[in-house]
Amino acid sequence: MKHNFGAGPCILPQEVFKEASEAVVNFEGTGLSILEISHRSKEFVAVMEEAQNLVKKALNVPEGYSVAFLQGGASLGFLISAMNMMRDSKKAAYINTGAWSKKAIKECENAGGAPIEIASSGDKNFNYIPKNVEVPGDCDYLHITSNNTIFGTQYKEFPKSSIPVVCDMSSDIFSRKINVADFDIIYAGAQKNLGPAGATLFIVKDEILGKSSVNIPTYLNIKTHVDKDSMFNTPPVFSVYVSMLNLRHLIANGGVEAIEKVNQEKADLLYNEIDSNPLFEGTTAKEDRSNMNVTFVMTDETHKEEFDKMWNDAGIVGLKGHRSVGGYRASMYNALGLESVQVLVDVMREFSNKYA
Ligand SMILES: *Cc1c(COP(=O)(O)O)cnc(C)c1O
Repeated sequence: MKHNFGAGPCILPQEVFKEASEAVVNFEGTGLSILEISHRSKEFVAVMEEAQNLVKKALNVPEGYSVAFLQGGASLGFLISAMNMMRDSKKAAYINTGAWSKKAIKECENAGGAPIEIASSGDKNFNYIPKNVEVPGDCDYLHITSNNTIFGTQYKEFPKSSIPVVCDMSSDIFSRKINVADFDIIYAGAQKNLGPAGATLFIVKDEILGKSSVNIPTYLNIKTHVDKDSMFNTPPVFSVYVSMLNLRHLIANGGVEAIEKVNQEKADLLYNEIDSNPLFEGTTAKEDRSNMNVTFVMTDETHKEEFDKMWNDAGIVGLKGHRSVGGYRASMYNALGLESVQVLVDVMREFSNKYA
C-alpha cells in the first residue's frame, strides 16, 4: 500500500476501487461490464440519477439549481462558464490566483469576452489570496478559483459580489462545506477529489441558463445537458459511476461535514510540522494555506537526496512540487487518511533529527 499524495488524478477509497473493479466484470448482476452497458439502460440511467442526487445531498444544493456531468475537464469549463455567463457587456471580472485562473482568463477571451483582471497575487508568485477586492458592478460575472492546486492557497472566505459568481472548485469540492446559493456556476473536473478523470461536474443556478448574449455551440451550452439529464450524448459512464460510488461512501461516513474535520486535522498536523521543523518552510501566506495541497520547500538542500529516499522508502508517492513552485507538494484529498500524513510527518522529523 502506497501513501498517495499526488495532485491528481486523486486517491479514492479502497472500497470504491474494489466495487468499481467488480462492476468492470459484472455490473450489478447484469452479466455486463459497466464499460459495455448502454448508457440508456435503466441500470445506468439510475446511476446517473443517483450521482446527481448525491451531489445535491452532499452539498445541500438548494432548489433552483441543477447538477450536470459534462466532459472536457475544468479546462473546457473555463470556456463553457464564460460562454454561458456572457451578457450584453461582455466584460467579466477575474481574480487571478495562479495558473488555472490565468487559463480561465484566456478562455474568456476566446469566447469573445473582455476579461478584466480585478486582482492578482502574481506579484508574489501567487503565494496568497488577494483580499478586500472591489468587484465592479458592471461586469457580467466574477470568476474565482477556490483552491489553487499548484500554489497551495485556498479561499477561506469568498469575496462579496453583487454580480453572479462563477467558481472553479476542481481541487476542493466536497472537501468542506460551501453555500451553493452564493454561486451561479460551480464547476470541477472529477479527478481532483471526486472520481476518475473524464467527467466534469457542473452545479448551475437554473436562472442563468439560456440568457447568453453569444451563440453557444450545442455541447457547450449547459442548458443542453440540464434539459437532457446529462444524457445529451454518451456520458463518461465509468467516471460518473465511480464518482457515484465515492459520493455514497462520503455520505455514509458523515458527509462533507465529517470529512471537513478530518481534512482540517490532516492540514494542522502537516503545517505544524512544517512550522516547527527547522529544515522545512511553507511557501504560502499562513492565513491562505490550502487544506488540500500543501506546498513547502527545504531551508537547506544539502541532504535533499537523502530526504527523497526516506519518503520514497516509507511508501510515499506524488510528493514532488510543481515546477513553478519547486520543493514539495503534499496533496491531501478526501481519501488520504490521517495515518498517511503521520507517515510523512514522521519522515520529516526523523530527517531533521539526523541533519538539523
Ligand atoms: C486540475 C485543475 C484544472 C484543470 O482540470 P482538467 O480537468 O485537467 O482540465 C483546473 N482548475 C483547477 C483548480 C485544477 O486543479
